[in-house]
Amino acid sequence: MPHPLELMAPDGFEQVAYGYDARTGLRAIVALHSTVLGPGLGGTRFYPFADEEGALVDVCRLAKGMTYKHAAAGTDQGGGKAVIIGDPATLRTDDLIRAYARFIDGLAGRYVTAEDVGTTQADMDLIRTITPHVSGVSEHLGGSGDPSPATALGVLWAMKAVAERLWQTSSLEGRHVCINGVGKVGGALADHLHAEGARLTVADVRAAAVATVVERTGAVEVSPAGAHAVACDLYSPCALGGALSATTIPELHAAAVVGCANNQLATPQDAQRIDESGVLYAPDYVVNAGGVINIAQEKGGYDRARAEERIRGIHDTVLRVLDLATEEGITTAAAADLLAERRIDAARMNGNEGEV
Ligand code: NAD
Repeated sequence: MPHPLELMAPDGFEQVAYGYDARTGLRAIVALHSTVLGPGLGGTRFYPFADEEGALVDVCRLAKGMTYKHAAAGTDQGGGKAVIIGDPATLRTDDLIRAYARFIDGLAGRYVTAEDVGTTQADMDLIRTITPHVSGVSEHLGGSGDPSPATALGVLWAMKAVAERLWQTSSLEGRHVCINGVGKVGGALADHLHAEGARLTVADVRAAAVATVVERTGAVEVSPAGAHAVACDLYSPCALGGALSATTIPELHAAAVVGCANNQLATPQDAQRIDESGVLYAPDYVVNAGGVINIAQEKGGYDRARAEERIRGIHDTVLRVLDLATEEGITTAAAADLLAERRIDAARMNGNEGEV
């Protein structure tokens, strides 16, 4: 079992907090990677981790990812994430969620929680009854609601930026896009692209999800296993992580990859591999930031029109990342990290550190 301080030091984590409640069985960990740009904002994952070590490693990895995602997106939020250890199907009670909310409240706003795998909007609404340090609550409570439509809008504008770079026009009319995974985000993305006049090929392991998208958009269906190899303009992984690997990258027949799935690169080496293959990779956490940009807009009162304007800014961020990759002679994935690190360094130099 790694000692928390040993795990925190190499990546410069600020804080790891443990929450325990004997009465409800709550065992929770909050990791704050960086609050230089603002309070750590990230979801609570409620998951039956095999052991405490796995939970600690995961929450730290996820919190660091949030630092980069917020910094690249310009949300003025920091990197934080939380886990509740256990199976939500058997452990979750309202009392446990309330105990968890008191733990979050004790962090005095350095961490703002949100929904993630295993937690729901109803949980966030319950947390709001105890602490203000929660986002993604229901719209009737002043929240921004389901983040998926915002994420889909962001992916669309990332695609427009890539189109501009590749074809000197942001129009997607007549472009062939293959979406692998037409769930909440992929399905909404298909609707946007259909409205833009794009030609669609779609895949999903759920036949019903494919059928509704085909009916709405006239898309052509392909098997999930073969979707990455479809000859098209843009390939959009919108299902699980690890879509781009040593196996799939050589089989890509798209000009670019622009999708919402998290952790698309199976290994860090795949950033170099896709770069060398000549397929333009728009980094996942820049492309899929629409959801967190939307949630960050809850601070100071949520306004959907203002939020959508900020989400469309993903277009400019993608172009900046592609420019940086060219200027520095690095992969687009490395350029996204560099953009985020430069923004954090600039805030540190301006003396913003610790202003949460
Ligand atoms: P979702 O569960 O609604 O949709 C995922 C879809 O992928 C489902 O329809 C599922 O059947 C399908 N799928 C699962 N395995 C597949 C496979 N092997 N091949 C093809 N399809 C498969 O999830 P979502 O909210 O649409 O999120 C999709 C991805 O985007 C996830 O990786 C998620 O982490 C990421 N993401 C989502 C958001 C958001 O706002 N929802 C924000 C950022 C990132």
